[in-house]
Amino acid sequence: MSVPLTANQIQYFMGEALHEARKAALIGEVPIGAVVVQNGQIISRAFNLREHLQDGSQHAEYQAILEANRLQHSWRLPEAQLFVTLEPCIMCAGLIQQTRITDVYYGADDAKGGGVTSMYELLTDERLNHQVNVHAGVRDQEASALLKTFFKDVRKRKKAAKKARQLADKKAGQNL
Ligand SMILES: [Zn+2]
Repeated sequence: MSVPLTANQIQYFMGEALHEARKAALIGEVPIGAVVVQNGQIISRAFNLREHLQDGSQHAEYQAILEANRLQHSWRLPEAQLFVTLEPCIMCAGLIQQTRITDVYYGADDAKGGGVTSMYELLTDERLNHQVNVHAGVRDQEASALLKTFFKDVRKRKKAAKKARQLADKKAGQNL
């Protein structure tokens, strides 16, 4: 069993996951971050790196869990708590279930891909052999603000690039 966390610890650990998410945004990745906690300590942390590594398994929480497995020399993490800024997808929910993590704290809901509450409820499905305590909406406004700002910037950059291309085309046309 995992050691229960205080409200302050929950806020703090989600703050660390948000910090990981900001690192992703800095390098142009969708800002999602995660930390794994055991005995009141962060044992692993990761952020989304899917674009840089062109690897579909580079979700923040997936990589943080794998790192925890390596550090613990165990595929089981029954004393671990996962903090992730966005609701886990079905792939990550599968790994959480497989590794026997007891508690998942997440920030924003993912209406289009959530595997925990929004679309599927894999972590609390009683047909499976292991259920997870799900704590949704922890510092969710900060998590979704990060995502919103990121996608707004992406759209802005795309628009600017299009405009630059049109200008360049126009110039090239004039020089003919
Ligand atoms: Zn995922």
